[in-house]
Amino acid sequence: MVPGAAPGRASFSFTRPCSQAAVLLRRRRLVDTTTLTPPVRRSAWQWLRRPLTIHAGLSALQADLIQRGFLLSVSLYRHCSSLSAPALAGFGRGLLELLDAESGNDAEHEPLFRRFPESVPGNTESFYVDRVFARMLQEAEQPCVLCGDAKSVHAVAPCAHLVCRTCWDGTDFSACPLCLRRINPGDPFLKPSYDEVQPAHVRSDRLQLLTLAPADAVRTTVDAVLVRRSPLSAADRADLQVLLSDADPSWLPDEIPVHETRALVLARFLDEHPQLIDRARTATDVLRLVYALMDADPGLRTPPARRKSLPRATRRLVLARLDRLPAETLIEDMLRHERAWKRIAENLHPFEFATRHPVAAMAFAVVRRTDLDLSSAAGRAVAGEASRHAFVRLDGWRLTVSTFTSRVEGAFADGRPGQALDLLRQRPGELVRRLVQLARALPADQHGALVNALTTAVSDVSPVVITSALGQVRTPPGDLRLFFPRGGTARIWTSVDEREPLPPELASALSGVLVGEMLRRATDLPRLRRVFLDEELARLAGPGSERNS
Ligand SMILES: [Zn+2]
Ligand SMILES: [Zn+2]
Repeated sequence: MVPGAAPGRASFSFTRPCSQAAVLLRRRRLVDTTTLTPPVRRSAWQWLRRPLTIHAGLSALQADLIQRGFLLSVSLYRHCSSLSAPALAGFGRGLLELLDAESGNDAEHEPLFRRFPESVPGNTESFYVDRVFARMLQEAEQPCVLCGDAKSVHAVAPCAHLVCRTCWDGTDFSACPLCLRRINPGDPFLKPSYDEVQPAHVRSDRLQLLTLAPADAVRTTVDAVLVRRSPLSAADRADLQVLLSDADPSWLPDEIPVHETRALVLARFLDEHPQLIDRARTATDVLRLVYALMDADPGLRTPPARRKSLPRATRRLVLARLDRLPAETLIEDMLRHERAWKRIAENLHPFEFATRHPVAAMAFAVVRRTDLDLSSAAGRAVAGEASRHAFVRLDGWRLTVSTFTSRVEGAFADGRPGQALDLLRQRPGELVRRLVQLARALPADQHGALVNALTTAVSDVSPVVITSALGQVRTPPGDLRLFFPRGGTARIWTSVDEREPLPPELASALSGVLVGEMLRRATDLPRLRRVFLDEELARLAGPGSERNS
């Protein structure tokens, strides 16, 4: 025990559970000595500062750490031995509190079965059925519904459930066996256990090394989180918010690959650095940012609370950003998240700024199917902007658009797949996404053109799109098609593939192009020395975007 440390319980005197020190300790096992060492008054430590006290204190701290599975690194040990006795005591207490809060050791846990894990019932189903039976059917002053014993049923306090002393072992349960809630410690149902053993303290047979946090520890930790290529878990997001509390925009790497993370970070800095909004490059990026600003999920899975509103300056900044995007891609992108934008429009009031940001107002008018009031300045500004774009038409009072997507859909619907192919050549990603649709629709004499178009397009396409196209080309007919809903949900939608099989020569030509591209990219990657692949993996279905992994 560290001198002065209270046994067992933690009190968060100067360290909070979600401090930067806690995050650095948990994520990287780095000890931030600047925040963990409390300032010590001179008079207090002058007479205490004797080498013997430090030595004893350090040994005690190391013993406490080893019990929890940790060791001090050499540099951290040196730092500790340079402290005064009271400073060391404060440091040790803070460090142990953080480690205990992290592991849950700061709270007292009492297992339901006091001889856990030995006494946990082997058949949990019959345990459950007995509980439900006793709870529903047992009446006071009646024999036990489970064993028939007439004298063994008594109520426990305070839940008043009727518990049979024969059927439920009072030396093992720590709570009411029927409702599992705590009962009064003095209740006669609870009997002292005959072999209560103290739990062992070392929870791991491998000790982890705690090291001294370098001055730039917070920054390097932030950096590692920001450059990750997969979406952050809720815990990572919370950590990032804590770590960013002292950050400034110079910390931001040029590229933050995950959209959600980028939105969170931009939302954090936007107040003081409005120019950062240009790092939201598409309308959907802006939408994520708005969600983050409204404390909603930047992954766009759950909408923001209706009551939440944005300050006028922020609304103007957001609309100005949308206004600078090319009108056609802006509208197309907004139509992809139509419902979200409609909801956000209630907050942004785009028509309030229509004369200044007419492109943004026009985009909202399209998405919301607004009836334009041409007698108002805002209505005239939007109509005037619409007249500048060939893809927008004013139909009565409403704007209608023919976007790239609607032209492609139209070509397919009218039985002109060749025209759809020509359009899709302009957008490689879209072409690869619609590969199977094209392959089914195109007549045999245009199959060569499709393979050529794919060969040109494939080098500009992300790996996720290539693998998912490959999966579709290879799916044998009659097999299951799997649909992985994006984010959060663990449910997979399946349906039997009843579509006509692709012509085999075309399927093999297309998959040849896709595989060739994947191999070409793989040869540029660093070599792996030895790899073992489980053949069973071939049968494992997983989402290409690994969002849930
Ligand atoms: Zn009984
Ligand atoms: Zn109960």
